Amino acid sequence: MSAKENRIQPAAPKPMIIVAIDGPAGAGKSTVARCLARHFGLLNLETGAMYRAFALKALRAGLALDKSSELERITAETSIRLEPGEDENRVLLDGEDVTGLIRNPLVTEAASRVSVFPKIRAWMVGLQQQLGAQGGVVMEGRDIGTVVFPQAEVKIFLDAAPEVRGQRRYDQLGGQSSAAAPPREEIIRDLRARDERDRNRADSPLKPAADAVLLDSTNLTLDQAVTEAVRIVSDKLRYAGLAF
Ligand code: C5P
Repeated sequence: MSAKENRIQPAAPKPMIIVAIDGPAGAGKSTVARCLARHFGLLNLETGAMYRAFALKALRAGLALDKSSELERITAETSIRLEPGEDENRVLLDGEDVTGLIRNPLVTEAASRVSVFPKIRAWMVGLQQQLGAQGGVVMEGRDIGTVVFPQAEVKIFLDAAPEVRGQRRYDQLGGQSSAAAPPREEIIRDLRARDERDRNRADSPLKPAADAVLLDSTNLTLDQAVTEAVRIVSDKLRYAGLAF
């Protein structure tokens, strides 16, 4: 090995950009965000997991999920942290690892309900802005490009037809081979209900930012959606003179 080859290479500097990925459930956001983070050397932050962790705490405390004042009361004594994990974020609720507890249907439904309240959102947005303040992140959610980081260098709004999103969720849950998986129709119905709540809430409804690139994954495999997202981010960065 030559002296040149032997020299320790300094780690490549981490790009301090923010990539915002928004869209409805089942559009492929998690996969796309995770792969983009790996490709560009960024930290992947799943904001839905934060709403889920808070919903879990509210459920455990037996709070009424339709009473903002009750929910607001516990925000001051709640700590939610995201840590990078292999496939998904590790989620710490008041120091407890709740990663394995927040994906069940009960918490999913509760997260959708608690996230309509402006004061809960304002608190959560503050936490998310702190997490991403240094940049170098892909942040995934519903309002990242519109509210959390309107100044994000790249914004992608990932969408797909409801039937396709429902089918993906069904497959993720094990499909026909899993006795525990709910029927496909039930998954599509729940997905539509969550979408409607996200799109129609008064505060920061789910919608593309004016400067977001729309990516419809209805007729794409998730691999194809990732390839397309990598191209969108690369193009944006090259155009902004931020290529790395
Ligand atoms: O993305 P995920 O399905 O894990 O999000 C759970 C719920 O949290 C969503 O149904 C949505 O209502 C809410 N959410 C939100 N804003 C975000 C992320 C998630 O309102 N930025």
